[in-house]
Amino acid sequence: MVVAKDKVVAIDYTLRDSEGQILDQSDAGRPLSYLHGAGMIIEGLESALEGKATDDQFQVVVEPADAYGEFDDGLRQQVPRSQFDDIEDLEVGMQFRVNTDEDEFTVVTVVEIDDEEVTVDGNHQLAGVTLHFDIKVREIRDATREEIEHGHPHGPGGHEH
Ligand SMILES: [Zn+2]
Repeated sequence: MVVAKDKVVAIDYTLRDSEGQILDQSDAGRPLSYLHGAGMIIEGLESALEGKATDDQFQVVVEPADAYGEFDDGLRQQVPRSQFDDIEDLEVGMQFRVNTDEDEFTVVTVVEIDDEEVTVDGNHQLAGVTLHFDIKVREIRDATREEIEHGHPHGPGGHEH
C-alpha cells in the first residue's frame, strides 16, 4: 500500500529551519496520524508523501509559499498601548486572538512595546521560513467512511471523539 488520497498515514517527523534548529517533532513512538488528501498538513509536505510506502524515510524542503506563506510586512501593526491597559505584565511574545471579521479571527504576537505603542504581528510564526522535514512513514491504512466524512483520522494519534 502506498500513500494516496483517503489513506490514513502515520509519520514520524522532525522539522528544522535552514540553520538546522529543531522547530517541532513528533514524540518517539507517537507518530502523527493524518488523512491524506484532506489538507490537514501543509501542501508541500502532503505532495512529497504521495506514493511513499511504509518505512520509507526521506527529507523534504518546503518553501514558505507551500507552507505558512511569505512574511507580510502589512500584517505588522502599531496600536496604542492604552488598548492593552487591562493586560497585566504585557510582554514581547504574548499572543492574542483578534477578530478580523465577524466570524474570523487571527492570532497576533506582540513583537515590540514602548511607552505609547505596541507593535503586533499577525504573521504565522513560521511565515517566511523554509521548512526542512525528516520524515519516516510508519503506517498506511485505508480510511473508514466515517473518517473521510469527518476529514480526519480517528484512534491513536488522531481525533478522539
Ligand atoms: Zn471524527
